[in-house]
Amino acid sequence: MKRVVIRGVPFLQFENISSSLLFHAFTLKQAFFNPGDGKERERLKEVLLIDTLVTASQVHGTRWVVVDGPPGEKPVADALLTAQRGVCLGVLVADCLPLLFVDPVKEALAVVHAGWRGVVDGIHLEVLRAMETVFGSQVSDLLVGIGPGIGECCFAVGEEVARRFARRGTRRIREKEGYFFVDLPGVVQDELEEYGVKKRNIENSNLCTVCHGEMFHSFRREKELAGRNILLAGWQKRD
Ligand SMILES: [Zn+2]
Repeated sequence: MKRVVIRGVPFLQFENISSSLLFHAFTLKQAFFNPGDGKERERLKEVLLIDTLVTASQVHGTRWVVVDGPPGEKPVADALLTAQRGVCLGVLVADCLPLLFVDPVKEALAVVHAGWRGVVDGIHLEVLRAMETVFGSQVSDLLVGIGPGIGECCFAVGEEVARRFARRGTRRIREKEGYFFVDLPGVVQDELEEYGVKKRNIENSNLCTVCHGEMFHSFRREKELAGRNILLAGWQKRD
C-alpha cells in the first residue's frame, strides 16, 4: 500500500487497484479514532467529499448485502457490494482483515470485514461467488486488496482454532511453543488464487495492525479501548 494525502489528511491506498472512476482509502490512526461513528464519520465524509457512506452492523458472519443507495436501516452483514455510482461503502476493522474486491470491467466492487471466523467460514469465497452471480464478474478480471490486519507474527491461536483452519487444507499454520500461528492474509490469498483470481491481481499489504501501533488501531493490543480503522471504496459519479 502507499501513503497518500487527501486535503491534508493521510490515508493508505492499494497500489495495484485503480480504475478511472474508483475511489478507495484506508484510514490511519493518527487521523481518525473511530470513523464509523458520529463526528468523525462526518469529518471523514467532508475530507473525502463523500455524500453517501454506508457501513454495516458487522457480526463475524459470511452474509453479504448489495447496496444500491442509502439503506433505510444499517444492513447486518460483513460484506457490502455495489455497482452504483456515488455510494461509498465502508468496513471497520481493528485486527480483522479489510478486503477490497474490484471488477473494473463491470464496475462493481465489494468491501469485506474478514476476521478469523469469517475466513474459516469462507466469507472471501462467498464474496467471489456473489460478484459472479450478482454482477456477472469474471474472476480473472478481479483485483483484490488485502489490507492491514493481524499478521502471522501476532496471531497465536489454540489448538481448536488451528484445527478449524487446518480443515480448510491450508499450510499457513506454524507451531511454536504450544501455540499455533496462523497467517490469515496468506490463507485468504491462497484460497483466492485457487478459486481463479490471478496472483498478480492480488495485493497483500502484509501490514500487521498489532505490530504497527503507530499506524493502526488494534484490538489485540488496545483491547476495549481500541479505535477502528476503516476501509472505504466507491464508484464516483460521472460529471
Ligand atoms: Zn504482528
